[in-house]
Amino acid sequence: MAERLDVPHISTGDLFRANLKEQTPLGVEAQKYMDAGELVPDEVTVAMVRERFGEPDAAKGFILDGFPRTAPQAEALQALLDEQGLALDAVVEFAVSDEVVVQRLLGRGRSDDTEDVIRRRQQVYRDDTAPLLEFYRDRLVSVDAVGPVDEVTERVFGALKDV
Ligand code: AMP
Repeated sequence: MAERLDVPHISTGDLFRANLKEQTPLGVEAQKYMDAGELVPDEVTVAMVRERFGEPDAAKGFILDGFPRTAPQAEALQALLDEQGLALDAVVEFAVSDEVVVQRLLGRGRSDDTEDVIRRRQQVYRDDTAPLLEFYRDRLVSVDAVGPVDEVTERVFGALKDV
């Protein structure tokens, strides 16, 4: 999607993993949360996103992946976007059943993809992230995300036409 829209893909999980690989203080701090399937504290996450937004390639927009995940992050995002003179065009929900998610992630081979940790992430999603669907309801696109990647991608672009 980022390629097609010619904007950067900003994934907070990828940013945390890059920091972890380099053993930066941020990466070391984040690791304990990631390993447990818990969210990294909002202040840490927002500070990292703020820094990423300051890179030149982010000036004209981006696709955010895995952020915001809490109400305070959504509020912080609004403030950051206001500072940059940007607005959210759309919020995309990839709808997949919990069981399909577990099976997919177990096949992915990431060190935080054990069944216990995945199920904890799903609970955290229900508690802290799912309420954002209501918060973003006027810009929300829900896409059935069961199927091959290229088909799901087409569904997203099709649904975005209606936002
Ligand atoms: P992900 O790659 O999106 O699955 O994220 C991997 C892990 O990074 C999550 O389980 C969290 O521990 C952490 N993480 C990623 N994004 C966020 C976020 N927006 N807020 C807090 N923690 C996050």
